[in-house]
Amino acid sequence: MKRFISTACFLFATVIASSQSIDKLINVEEVERIEKILSSDAMEGRKTFTPSIDRAADFIGEEFKKNNLQYFPGLNGYRQQFSMIKAKLLSAEATFDGQIIEQKNIVAVTTSAEIIIHNTSGYEKVKIAAGANLFREASKYTQSDKNYLVIVDTSLATSFNRLGRFSRESFKKKNNIVFVLSALDPADYEINIKNELSESKLANVLGIIPGKSKKDEYVVFSAHYDHLGIGKPNDQNDSIYNGANDDAAGTTAIILLSKYFKLLNNNERTLVFVAFTAEEIGGFGSRYFSQQMDPEKVMAMFNIEMIGTESKWGTNSAYITGYEKSDFGKILQANLVDSKFHFEPDPYPKQNLFMRSDNATLAAQGVPAHTISTSKMDSEKYYHTQGDEIGTLDMNNMAEIIKAIALSSASIVGGKDTPTRIAKSP
Ligand SMILES: [Zn+2]
Repeated sequence: MKRFISTACFLFATVIASSQSIDKLINVEEVERIEKILSSDAMEGRKTFTPSIDRAADFIGEEFKKNNLQYFPGLNGYRQQFSMIKAKLLSAEATFDGQIIEQKNIVAVTTSAEIIIHNTSGYEKVKIAAGANLFREASKYTQSDKNYLVIVDTSLATSFNRLGRFSRESFKKKNNIVFVLSALDPADYEINIKNELSESKLANVLGIIPGKSKKDEYVVFSAHYDHLGIGKPNDQNDSIYNGANDDAAGTTAIILLSKYFKLLNNNERTLVFVAFTAEEIGGFGSRYFSQQMDPEKVMAMFNIEMIGTESKWGTNSAYITGYEKSDFGKILQANLVDSKFHFEPDPYPKQNLFMRSDNATLAAQGVPAHTISTSKMDSEKYYHTQGDEIGTLDMNNMAEIIKAIALSSASIVGGKDTPTRIAKSP
């Protein structure tokens, strides 16, 4: 009996000690310190391709350095740089069976300076017929890696010029897709397109804590640090989209989680903490990062998006997108049995949040990659407005959420639990 009591006392003591140490590392003061800097007017809304986002990247890198994170394998700093190419049309000329096609009826999705197509240049000639869904058909070709000449039926003329939206910034492409609006199916054709290319650099910011026994098994904690930048002033003459909730809040979380896990020093798996760029303009940062990872080695991804406000269930709760697609959520919940905190399935399934955030690329490759959020997507007052400022956030609740993520991920970080894989999407 005595022995039992002393064991119980010992257990009780360790529980108190660990909950005290988590409070020391993840608390309102720390949340506020980081959130304040990231969402300050000085950061000017952290828009991708601006000097302001570089300042945010510097700050995140400094925090990772303070937390003694190591560089991601193959990098010699915390930045993972890559570039995007934009092709500006200089000229487009085409003839179909000797008839001249007007420039406005030619759209190229490309990162090449010059495209020459004729009967024997190896482009597959395909048609988008009357009555087809132009964008759905077009994206089949833009997502492939082959060269296509796509002839679009003239009945689709009104939406044809909007195909240009496929040719914004893009990763360097190996192939070209040329759309031509024409009623002809030419036996003989010649197309000549010239573009001016511009290359813009951007960077994710990431660091790792190598695993003790399962170094080759990765657990990713992520958030995006870019936002919308500066826009038109609102009626309070505020033009800065601070993005305090979207997603300085998630970025704050990954910085504090990295500090917590580094000091805890017992992760069996390798932990990757990554702040993504360019989420707001198409998720390019997470796509680039995901391409550098072997999805089979990623055991779980905790993507954290907008955790600064109360969820629809109130404080001490958050939802997980794609909850039913793996047992990730159940594992997290099981690690929180005696806690006041609870995770719920995403209550806004119609909004397809699961595939709209930075977890999407790895999830499509089978990784149990989920987004954790509290954002009330049907009523979040300041979502994508100049009013998304630190004053609208609940710092106490944010600290509780970050602690809940830290504690609920323990068995995955420790290599005891491995969430089931998600069905791959084509
Ligand atoms: Zn956003």
